[in-house]
Amino acid sequence: MLQEQIQRYFETCEDQMVDVITKLVAIRSVRAEAQPGLPFGKGPAEALAEALAIAEEMGFATANIDNYVGTVDINDQETRLGILCHLDVVGEGTGWSTPPYTVVQKDGMLFGRGTSDDKGPLVAALSALKAVKDLGIPLKYNTRLILGTDEETDSADIKYYFARHAAPPYTFSPDGFFPVTNTEKGSYKTTFTKSWTVSEALPRVAAVKGGEIINVIPGHAEAIVQGLSATKLQPYCEAAALSTGVKFELNAENGAVQIVATGTGGHAAKPQKGNNALTALLSLLASLPIAESESFTAIQQLSRLFPHGDFLGKALGIAQEDEISGPLTLSFNIYEQNLSGFKGRFDSRTPLCATHENCMDVVDGRFAALGIQVENKILPPHHTPCDSPFVQTLLNAYEKYTGLNGFCEATGGGTYVHDIEGGVAFGAIMPGFEPYFHGADERVRISDLLTAAKIFTQVIVDLCG
Ligand SMILES: [Zn+2]
Repeated sequence: MLQEQIQRYFETCEDQMVDVITKLVAIRSVRAEAQPGLPFGKGPAEALAEALAIAEEMGFATANIDNYVGTVDINDQETRLGILCHLDVVGEGTGWSTPPYTVVQKDGMLFGRGTSDDKGPLVAALSALKAVKDLGIPLKYNTRLILGTDEETDSADIKYYFARHAAPPYTFSPDGFFPVTNTEKGSYKTTFTKSWTVSEALPRVAAVKGGEIINVIPGHAEAIVQGLSATKLQPYCEAAALSTGVKFELNAENGAVQIVATGTGGHAAKPQKGNNALTALLSLLASLPIAESESFTAIQQLSRLFPHGDFLGKALGIAQEDEISGPLTLSFNIYEQNLSGFKGRFDSRTPLCATHENCMDVVDGRFAALGIQVENKILPPHHTPCDSPFVQTLLNAYEKYTGLNGFCEATGGGTYVHDIEGGVAFGAIMPGFEPYFHGADERVRISDLLTAAKIFTQVIVDLCG
């Protein structure tokens, strides 16, 4: 029986898998400046060359598409299944208790940058191809491993590849968690601006600044207030701290007072997990006894449109949700105001039910009524039906080798298959395990990678056999 064959095959594969992961992790494949022939710098290209050399040694036909993407084919039949992995990693950062580019084996786990994102899962997929070949299972169709080198930055790797090669009818990417992520919310980002003539009336807010990266909730924001002493400001800060949970610090300087707000940063796909220092600061500023001016009116309006703690776009009038993808989320992440105007940006993740009319048009109307200019950047959602034969095949294989219940999930973040029609994210980390993606001491459980490899082997046979 196939399942027994696969189980038995992987009983002796651990050492080889660990060995390959160790070789790949040793290459610091962080994107760097492009060089001729190296679109993402030296590291990603080196890791790709190493992975392709290993696959070739295993007896597979490989190709290097201009150091953007590499492919590994199990046969020369028509490609029916694509498995999309990536060899680039984010930088190591700080706080490691093991050397980030040397795989350390401890407590049944491998530690090192890329062990779980995504070099370990990539090796599980490669091992699945090898298993099908070694077991001599006949296939009618090809399975192609597609190895990217720019997932962490722009996905310019697969844009280049898919502009030149058709996507396989079925594609999954083991670049996250089991079971299946089949729905990715849309992304709706705006830049909005307004300017006015400077008012000399005191007290006034001379400057506000918070946030730098559009998809990061600002954990820090600051403002300069003129014409109010720190003593006068103190009780307002205390009240705002109490209602928002954000800390405010006052520094008197050159006849003005600087207010520094400290909340908790986080990812825009999960705004409820952070505590936005910017929206807390705006609500504090809006509560101050400031002289009437266009600048102060703007602060009051923005604090009404983006009240602290409104992650759902209720005040903007775009709160909505559906059963498959969950609620729309929103976070106000970048803002800069001076004496003559402001520029702000928010990041919203939109469910499948969101449309131009019930979302962008509503916001455009709200802003226009206040004389605010707005520019939108919209990326539609991604969805592959859970009841499609492809997804059901994946879930069945998952259930077979884990004994766990298989189901589909939605995410507010983007995955590697966002632009690939019919694609889903599938594995390779088991639910409940903390792999510390992008963090210090990134890790993977060896037994999970073996299970993933078995699941992928079954899927290849089911879809291409
Ligand atoms: Zn990844």
